Amino acid sequence: MTSPSIVWFRDDLRLADHPALRAALDRGEPVVCLYVLDEESDGVRPLGGAARWWLHHSLASLGERLAERGAALILRRGPAAEVVPAVVAETDAGAVFWNRRYSLPERDIDAGIKSDLRDAGVEVASFAASLLFEPWTVRTGADKPYSVFTPFWKACRDLPAPRAPLPEPRDIPGPRSQPDGDDLEDWGLLPTTPDWAGGLRETWEPGEPAARRRLRAFLDDDLADYDRSRDEPAAGVTSGLSPRLRWGELSPYQVWHETIHSAAADRHPGPTQRFLSELGWREFAWHTLFHFPDLATRNWRAEFDAFEWPRLKPSHLEAWQKGRTGVPLVDAGMRELWHTGVMHNRVRMVTASYLVKNLLIDWRRGEEWFWDTLVDADAASNPFNWQWVAGSGADAAPYFRVFNPELQAEKFDKHGEYVRQWAPDSAGVEQLVDLKRSRQAALDAYEAVKRAR
Ligand code: FAD
Repeated sequence: MTSPSIVWFRDDLRLADHPALRAALDRGEPVVCLYVLDEESDGVRPLGGAARWWLHHSLASLGERLAERGAALILRRGPAAEVVPAVVAETDAGAVFWNRRYSLPERDIDAGIKSDLRDAGVEVASFAASLLFEPWTVRTGADKPYSVFTPFWKACRDLPAPRAPLPEPRDIPGPRSQPDGDDLEDWGLLPTTPDWAGGLRETWEPGEPAARRRLRAFLDDDLADYDRSRDEPAAGVTSGLSPRLRWGELSPYQVWHETIHSAAADRHPGPTQRFLSELGWREFAWHTLFHFPDLATRNWRAEFDAFEWPRLKPSHLEAWQKGRTGVPLVDAGMRELWHTGVMHNRVRMVTASYLVKNLLIDWRRGEEWFWDTLVDADAASNPFNWQWVAGSGADAAPYFRVFNPELQAEKFDKHGEYVRQWAPDSAGVEQLVDLKRSRQAALDAYEAVKRAR
């Protein structure tokens, strides 16, 4: 009698460097590969539209790759705490393996399933695969989580270096008969009418093979200029790996090791360290979320609760969402986002600052829009960065530092290429609000926070 091992895939849609899959193969029994679309467990944040699009295609790619190796990807929908034990019972599985998640309620869901299955005599093991450093291992001298990036990253770098990535398995023997699963097409992850995903299709090829090609191309062609030009949205020198890391088509261990062992790293140590420290910001965002799970809804700095947001003007929010503010760099960014599902980091900062500080709209409304439209939207990086811009977050830009979108454009889009590409019609249009006056209004409103400190 065989007792299969279940690998529960989540935000790790890859075959290489997959410790849970490796553990299942090492156990020597047939492997059942499972993905659960859980939109029903209490507190789970529903995925945004762009994320659903990506998930559909990444699952399709993973399914094909598993099939080529003798396995199948079983798709089930429902609360994970019901679905996973049900698949264990149906397959008579003796073990379940997964890679860890760091958000709530996911951590609680996983802990509950682990304890129930263990009580039932099933082996369960979880692994570190999506962060380079486990959040509980990076603590200050006073045994607290870090709240400032530079010492955080130094503490990480003083820990043992991230382990080497695991190779991709060649064969993944499945059980003689696979359990039933849903048809991916029936999950309705793709838009129907209107079909707004044309720009995503033009821009992206989700899935592990394309992710690996992009990493290679970035290291060969772009890393050398990363330090110098990473803030220029038209330069195209950043890695474009954020959705790959979000969905786990690549692990940070792969990115880390391939980077430090690349020929470019030898020749360009400065840009290499700079790039690795950006992975550090990703770690910092996730560690912050681990210690402060309400990051998407609550101010990380409690004194910001005293900030009184004026009544929302829906027409202002909509103008920002549609890229019709009359501020060229803001409009270009918002249209890039709508078309491609990503936006250059510098422009994310500028558009976010404009929403929060010039339009005086609560950062949560911006976070929600990005959550719905970004293909890389993740539970940590998105709210962490919104709070960073708003001034309410960890190691945040001070509230009184208001990005001037016109000066930012002069500095980082000197020749206007980015604005010409995304919002050629925006220059010369009447602006939604006067930049100077709205900046002053934000600073006045901020006085309330200062008084609350
Ligand atoms: P690169 O410059 O090539 O950086 C390499 C990797 O480092 C990225 O892929 C990403 O994983 C990580 N990284 C870089 N900068 C940051 C950062 N500031 N915070 C966290 N990780 C970082 N990033 C997301 O992955 N998901 C989000 O939902 C997200 N929302 C954001 C919202 C706002 C308001 C702002 C200002 C930034 C946000 N970012 C988010 C961070 C950053 O803009 C993107 O990670 C970056 O633009 C992705 O492009 P890249 O892969 O070419 O980055």
